[in-house]
Amino acid sequence: MKVLGVGAHPDDIEIFAGGTFAKYAERGDEVTIAYVTDGQMGHATLPPEEIAAIRKEEAQAACDLLGAKMIWLGFQDEFFFYNMESRTAFVDMVRQVGPDVLITHYPDMFSGDHTGVGQQANDAAIVVNMPNLKTDYAPVEIPQVYFMEAPCGVGFIPDEYVDITDVFEIKKKLVSCHKSQSEWLKYCADIDYIELIEVTARFRGLQAGVRYAEGFKRSPRGWMGDLTRRVLP
Ligand SMILES: [Zn+2]
Repeated sequence: MKVLGVGAHPDDIEIFAGGTFAKYAERGDEVTIAYVTDGQMGHATLPPEEIAAIRKEEAQAACDLLGAKMIWLGFQDEFFFYNMESRTAFVDMVRQVGPDVLITHYPDMFSGDHTGVGQQANDAAIVVNMPNLKTDYAPVEIPQVYFMEAPCGVGFIPDEYVDITDVFEIKKKLVSCHKSQSEWLKYCADIDYIELIEVTARFRGLQAGVRYAEGFKRSPRGWMGDLTRRVLP
């Protein structure tokens, strides 16, 4: 299978679905992680270009650890808008990868970037097969779209779970690649990165009857293609 993760900021996919991507990668699926914005707001003292460059390196390190391909779209951090430009970029991104499964943000949460990226990824995915929509890449089949965990699990009720017990140490390493954001999260929200993923994974694990889990919601498709099989690992 081909799997595409679409995260607003460099570290989102790792925090909210890193264990699931580790499982996809471990079983030999082709994994691509797309970082939509450049993360230039993510530091208290470093200027925008400097922290954006650091975050791109951190994202590359996480992708290398995962054995994943990286796509860096470079939209400005905290200024992602749902418009023609982002629709076209997302259609091309999906067509370039041709994923069976696309995992992105639940489009109803605290961050404008998270909300916009989740909505645009879901909506763009529905039109990637349309021949009349001309972009740089050829049409592909519509992927199954899953929404990943919300920050601290707030307001998010999963309908599918992935047991990440065996890959939890890898998830910790993936998140730890984003060292600058470990400092930033502590600074802006007084949250410890590792504690955040440990508590959330244990909480979802309790719900699923395993040690550690990640939760997902599947985007409803109706006549665009509902599922009779499981595509999460
Ligand atoms: Zn984010």
